[in-house]
Amino acid sequence: MSKVFHECPHCHQKQISSFQKLFSVSFSPAICPVCNQPSNVPIVHGLMTLTAWILLTWLFIGLSIMAGMSFFLLGTIPAFIVCVDRYLLKAPLVPREFQ
Ligand SMILES: [Zn+2]
Repeated sequence: MSKVFHECPHCHQKQISSFQKLFSVSFSPAICPVCNQPSNVPIVHGLMTLTAWILLTWLFIGLSIMAGMSFFLLGTIPAFIVCVDRYLLKAPLVPREFQ
């Protein structure tokens, strides 16, 4: 997962952590430590992440049924991390008031 900090849409400082960014999708905005302004990832990126993960989960379910080996289901865990990294952390933050 990316360890980089993300750019604040208000002051353009890269001070928002990946952790804050992930949680800004669902229930609370990420507060920039520099300018104290709230921002969040547009919900559409959260939905894309979820959709990609659900598709991959079905792929792993199919694999485990075909091969008769349930350990293929463990693949959904790294798949989730990859989806979050690819779709959620790469998405831009937007100022909270435009939601
Ligand atoms: Zn800021």
